[in-house]
Amino acid sequence: MTCALKNLKGCIPNKEKRRFHTMGLHKPIAYLNKAVKSDLIIVDGLVGDLNFEEGGNPVQMDRIILGFDPVLVDSYVANLMGYDEKEIPYIKIAEQIGVGNCIASKEQVNELNENNNTQKIPYSREIEKLSKYVKEKDACSACYGSLIHALARLDEKGILRRLKTKLFIGQGYKGIKGEGIGVGNCTRGFTQNVQGCPPTAKDILEVLEKNL
Ligand code: SF4
Repeated sequence: MTCALKNLKGCIPNKEKRRFHTMGLHKPIAYLNKAVKSDLIIVDGLVGDLNFEEGGNPVQMDRIILGFDPVLVDSYVANLMGYDEKEIPYIKIAEQIGVGNCIASKEQVNELNENNNTQKIPYSREIEKLSKYVKEKDACSACYGSLIHALARLDEKGILRRLKTKLFIGQGYKGIKGEGIGVGNCTRGFTQNVQGCPPTAKDILEVLEKNL
């Protein structure tokens, strides 16, 4: 995941970057953050990518994230993308050596300027493939992005095909009752619901995995 901790690789020369790779990346990234402190972290989370830092499968999230602790920021972003911080070793190593602390509660995040933008950028072929599991009606881009990340994580684990239930998402389902899994507070009327406005991909994943 390319976010606050890994971003500091931009402060070292190419030769050193190659050495980081030979050392397995995780430990050097954590220790680089012990040596070079970040005072303020600003994450451009408007449009990230599903699986590659240089793009190809853009996922719109419409967020700018600000924080002072790179471990907290990275653990929060990991959850937004459907990962547990334990799955990304350098986050835990950085926490163990005192760079910062992983997110412990949702109360640590202040959400400002609620965004109900339902306009979306065109889907890549990969995103289109994931979207076939979804029935969408006016979903906010951040909500839809969380769902796409959750489906991508299931796909990475090779278990997406086991998902037989349709997923419903969007403001157009407000007040509507139905069978299936609803994603986000707008779909509270469905037999199962992932709460949140928007929910994180990790929250969505937890519910989906129970339905495989
Ligand atoms: S739950 Fe919130 S974020 Fe999701 S579609 Fe409804 S209003 Fe938008």
